[in-house]
Amino acid sequence: MQNDPRPTLRRPSALKLLARGVLFRCPWCGGGGLMKSWFHLKPRCPTCGLRTERGEEDFFLGAMVVNIAIAEGLLALILVGVMYGTWPRVPWLALEIGGPVLMVAAPILFYPVSKTLWLAVELLFRPLTHEELDWHRSSDETTFRRQEDR
Ligand SMILES: [Zn+2]
Repeated sequence: MQNDPRPTLRRPSALKLLARGVLFRCPWCGGGGLMKSWFHLKPRCPTCGLRTERGEEDFFLGAMVVNIAIAEGLLALILVGVMYGTWPRVPWLALEIGGPVLMVAAPILFYPVSKTLWLAVELLFRPLTHEELDWHRSSDETTFRRQEDR
């Protein structure tokens, strides 16, 4: 709300947001217990009430991009590192078997981190407002509409 008399919400530093995201914590408040299961976040942070997908139906797309970037980027670094470290006797058979196995396993392993990390990136570029935080804490289940969307 433009005429909100409350002072602007202070966003945690970028480093703090990202570190909390990597540690499966709520990037906004640092509270834990966000994970419902390996593949699902709780709908809200148990500490501050922030909706973990910020009320957006396509939130998972950003998390998916983060997941692929982290998992496959790390895989590429490992493969190149092994080749560089063992040259000229590169264990090609191990890379041919281990590469595809890691390619499938890495996105599954990084799945939870990708969601909390994406939430951190989202909060970094689109900080919370009092109006949005009030909506997160309310029982209103409709999609939040930003002031500029109205
Ligand atoms: Zn929180």
